[in-house]
Amino acid sequence: ADAETAAPQAAWLRIDGVSKRFGGAVVLDHIDLSVRRGEFLCLLGPSGCGKTTLLRVIAGLEAQDGGTVVMGGRDIGALPPAQRDYGIVFQSYALFPNLTVAENVAYGLRLPRRERAARVEQLLQMVELDGRQEQYPAQLSGGQQQRVALARAMATSPSLLLLDEPLSALDARVRDSLRQQLKALQRRLGVTAIMVTHDQEEALALADTIAVMSAGRVEQVGTPEQVYREPASRFVAEFIGCANWLPVRQDDEGVVRSGDLSFGRSLPTGVPAATAFCRPEDIRVEPHWSAGGSMTMAIVERVDFLGGVRRAVLSLAADRDALLTVDVSRNDPGYALLVPGARVPVSIAPHAVRYFVDGAA
Ligand code: ATP
Repeated sequence: ADAETAAPQAAWLRIDGVSKRFGGAVVLDHIDLSVRRGEFLCLLGPSGCGKTTLLRVIAGLEAQDGGTVVMGGRDIGALPPAQRDYGIVFQSYALFPNLTVAENVAYGLRLPRRERAARVEQLLQMVELDGRQEQYPAQLSGGQQQRVALARAMATSPSLLLLDEPLSALDARVRDSLRQQLKALQRRLGVTAIMVTHDQEEALALADTIAVMSAGRVEQVGTPEQVYREPASRFVAEFIGCANWLPVRQDDEGVVRSGDLSFGRSLPTGVPAATAFCRPEDIRVEPHWSAGGSMTMAIVERVDFLGGVRRAVLSLAADRDALLTVDVSRNDPGYALLVPGARVPVSIAPHAVRYFVDGAA
């Protein structure tokens, strides 16, 4: 407790050099991560990258081959799951079908009967399911069952909440509302949360910090804005949202260009060429061509209506194989110009561009 008072921002949960093999396959390759108290961390990555295995190692449901897991200053690596002070929620609600809602929530509670009933009522109020005590899981919707699972996970007021794709089995509308509820609840209770997801939108919306994983390694740790705006690698750039790439060279005057487009920032010393990266909303469709501005001609190949924006795929007039994806919102002057086959001038916000040399920024 003294250490926590002295350094409130310091790591509360620390994963140091954790490795795991299944047979010959390395599933976790020296993972280092630290989580502050009250933080919401998302482990984000494609199927098979090891995120569930890492969560199971933290939970003690899987033993690591190397490395340590320290929680609140204590090495918990050798503790059985029941002694690790966490609650867990799985994708498949994992409720007991033959127990009532109240019995499911009370399952891990060691309290005298009356206190137990009061605690269950309080927990069900917390997830807005009070009055459902006597119902059975089969009588509830998927979203309601997952709220029961969440109440059960929080029954003993654990300091850590582990979530393994808790929203993936739900339909879009229920998922969105439960996402909001989960975040509000986590904030209100101040519980530290670690959630596994392969859904980048979910991670961006929920997390304080995202750890992007690939093939058993952590590729980048950062805030949602950082991993989206400043991806550390091509993998992260492609996995989180839509990425545009343009080959760039530095000319004799030191100007970095891709065809007609010039960019404000120079390349690192000694690097003559690289790949420029930007997001769809960083590209402007211009209402008028201006020779002085850094613009290039593009042809509209395809337009999708996404509600808030039109997302168009453009090819460069100078190189029809070079494609750019742009998002244009309704109040932008370029919006009405997005008609398949049209020729449109485009420019790129210079500050939004990042250069990648050999895959990394
Ligand atoms: P998903 O979202 O598909 O669950 P993930 O990123 O969570 O993916 P893990 O479930 O951690 O990935 O699995 C990582 C790798 O380890 C996979 O190749 C998986 O097949 C393998 N694996 C996981 N558990 C076991 C096990 N008990 N025995 C053998 N191999 C396993």
